[in-house]
Amino acid sequence: MELKRQHLIDPVVCIRCNTCEETCPQDAITHDRNNYVVMAEKCNFCRACVSPCPTGAIDNWLLVSRPWSIDDQFGWEELPVGESGPGEAEAAPLPPEEVSDLLAAATQTTGPMVPPPASAAKPYTNLYSRETPVTARVAGNMRITGDGTESDIHHVVLDFQHNAFPFLEGQSIGIVPPGTDAKGRAYNIRLYSIASPREGERTGFNNLALTVKRVPGGVGSNYVCDLKKGDEVQVAGPFGQAFLMPDDPQANIIMICTGTGAAPFRGFTERRRRNAQDATGKLMLFFGARTPEELPYFGPLMKLPKSLIDVNLAFSRVPDRPKQYVQDKLRERADELAALLGSDKTHVFICGLKGMEQGCDEAFADICRLHGLDWAGLRPRMREEGRYHVETY
Ligand SMILES: Cc1cc2nc3c(=O)[nH]c(=O)nc-3n(C[C@H](O)[C@H](O)[C@H](O)COP(=O)(O)OP(=O)(O)OC[C@H]3O[C@@H](n4cnc5c(N)ncnc54)[C@H](O)[C@@H]3O)c2cc1C
Ligand code: SF4
Ligand code: SF4
Repeated sequence: MELKRQHLIDPVVCIRCNTCEETCPQDAITHDRNNYVVMAEKCNFCRACVSPCPTGAIDNWLLVSRPWSIDDQFGWEELPVGESGPGEAEAAPLPPEEVSDLLAAATQTTGPMVPPPASAAKPYTNLYSRETPVTARVAGNMRITGDGTESDIHHVVLDFQHNAFPFLEGQSIGIVPPGTDAKGRAYNIRLYSIASPREGERTGFNNLALTVKRVPGGVGSNYVCDLKKGDEVQVAGPFGQAFLMPDDPQANIIMICTGTGAAPFRGFTERRRRNAQDATGKLMLFFGARTPEELPYFGPLMKLPKSLIDVNLAFSRVPDRPKQYVQDKLRERADELAALLGSDKTHVFICGLKGMEQGCDEAFADICRLHGLDWAGLRPRMREEGRYHVETY
């Protein structure tokens, strides 16, 4: 039997503040003395109630064969367990089509159904859409590549002020560039990875950072790179349910990136630095750029303690030095990587330029061959277990 998605409120978490009932444009929410509930026949899944809810109690989407009535829900002391079967794909709130397409293209080499790491927290997604974006204010915009370098990368901090914008390390946001294209249509959303840990760029400030590279002629990147402090920006998201940081302190995280692909890994690393300095799981970073001056966050990265992160940099255009790419650095660290790949606690994340995956894949295959491991079997197993993630653009 085809299962249906039903929007429900968790009675344990709900603080009965009435915000959702006031917000819902469909009048789909009501309450009695016991519970706040959603009327299945009225709810159209618009999610307008989700971001204003202060507790997250409202963000439940179960699969059911027969929708729970409001009388059923009034009597609940806790949320029932959903069913599973055909229709399951509907359970997760789907991002708008243009975002799904961008995410699908960015993750195509790992396939569309890679699950998040088992120990990742549950992400909020699609709280704000292109139609109902949240306004953020620019708190700072700084060029982080050396003067005179070709690559113009900016660290941009967005402040969400009094608006809730919960996110996790590895998620992206959508920026809606103002204006219209040559045909008079509104511009599509551009996705940018969040470069901060979940507590924000600065703890307690409801903000986050982006790492944005100016693309010659590009609409979104030039808009973001030219933003001034105090400017207002329309933001959709957060997006992404799979490229999430495993939050297990025993997880070994191998992070491989080029250029702005460093953004999510900055979030991962800051999360460990602030919350789990004594984690037993290793952080290993493989970071490629043309020169040190073109490597975003080079200075701060060099100051991180070796006990926190094992940094391996590959530069491809330093005069009088042989060209090096991330895959060369992977091969240099073959012994350590093979030991990590032998553990079920190890996760691989690759982010950055499209096309970097093949080199990494070949390097992992070589490393495994040398150390008696079978990459052809290990890679799909890691993918199925939510331990191998690629996001390239
Ligand atoms: C999941 C995900 C995460 C991402 N994270 C980041 C991030 O953290 N940092 C980051 O910098 N980027 C990131 N991106 C890429 C980002 O979304 C944009 O694609 C990037 O900034 C370029 O967008 P743009 O609007 O500037 O360029 P666009 O306007 O989309 O143009 C792209 C290219 O097409 C060319 N072009 C545009 N119009 C024409 C035309 N009419 N004829 C010929 N050529 C044309 C441009 O010159 C440019 O080279 C991410 C993408 C995804 C999918
Ligand atoms: S998802 Fe939309 S229609 Fe459904 S309860 Fe929330 S606000 Fe109302
Ligand atoms: S907004 Fe959230 S916490 Fe408040 S009544 Fe609705 S579900 Fe409960």
